[in-house]
Amino acid sequence: MLNRRLAKSKSNFITKRRKKLVPLYEILSPFFVERPMKNTNSMKLTEAKFVTSAADYRKCPPPEKPEYAFIGRSNVGKSSLINMLVANKNLAKTSQTPGKTQLINHFEINKSWYLVDLPGYGFAKAPKAERDKWGEMIGEYLVNRENLICVFVLIDVRHEPQKVDIEFLDFLGEKEVPFYLVFTKADKVGSVTAEKNVESFKQTMLLSWTQVPQYFITSAERRTGRDELLKAIEELNLSFKK
Ligand code: GDP
Repeated sequence: MLNRRLAKSKSNFITKRRKKLVPLYEILSPFFVERPMKNTNSMKLTEAKFVTSAADYRKCPPPEKPEYAFIGRSNVGKSSLINMLVANKNLAKTSQTPGKTQLINHFEINKSWYLVDLPGYGFAKAPKAERDKWGEMIGEYLVNRENLICVFVLIDVRHEPQKVDIEFLDFLGEKEVPFYLVFTKADKVGSVTAEKNVESFKQTMLLSWTQVPQYFITSAERRTGRDELLKAIEELNLSFKK
């Protein structure tokens, strides 16, 4: 059984909101303290296969492998990013119909970890009942899935900080769900604008958080950030305890 608490304490995730100070060792490890990075090359992806779609975390595959969930506003570029990561154009379906009922999709990577494609949030036009259903399904999954090591929250780097993204991060903070940020579509803006928007996002986060978490600037189009993301996952896999 995964000791999620242990995995968290060894990570450099920011899981606490402002006023509850995060001990420095939690922020700096594991990259400095626990163990040296042995392998500087990124993970080789040999196999990626679809496992299940579930509407309930209790129906997800047995929690025997470390798991990483990807989520963001609809159209943020999540499917493109997942397909770029696993080097498969069709693993995750791109441009799904906004608001349509979606599920918790599990993919098994290298027979050793799960990549989870979660339905996007922020459908202003979706009926309230639909949004409530989404909230319940995803909320329960995020809070209760014991092998969930980290949530990768995708943010479109072209935009100013969006309220719905900040609210979602606040939810993760309240529930102490570890997360990293992944800025997407970096090729659509110049690097100067990307940096400026990331800085603006960080400043907005710092209004209610003590720290900003680790983040990645990516482009599915140019495969930017792939090695860094896979390396982070590989590193976190080492902290998984059955
Ligand atoms: P999802 O709804 O979050 O799964 O988003 P998709 O992956 O379907 O992407 C939404 C739209 O953005 C599609 O038209 C993609 O081609 C486009 N897109 C996604 N990622 C990138 C990127 O890195 N660069 C560019 N230029 N377009 C992207």
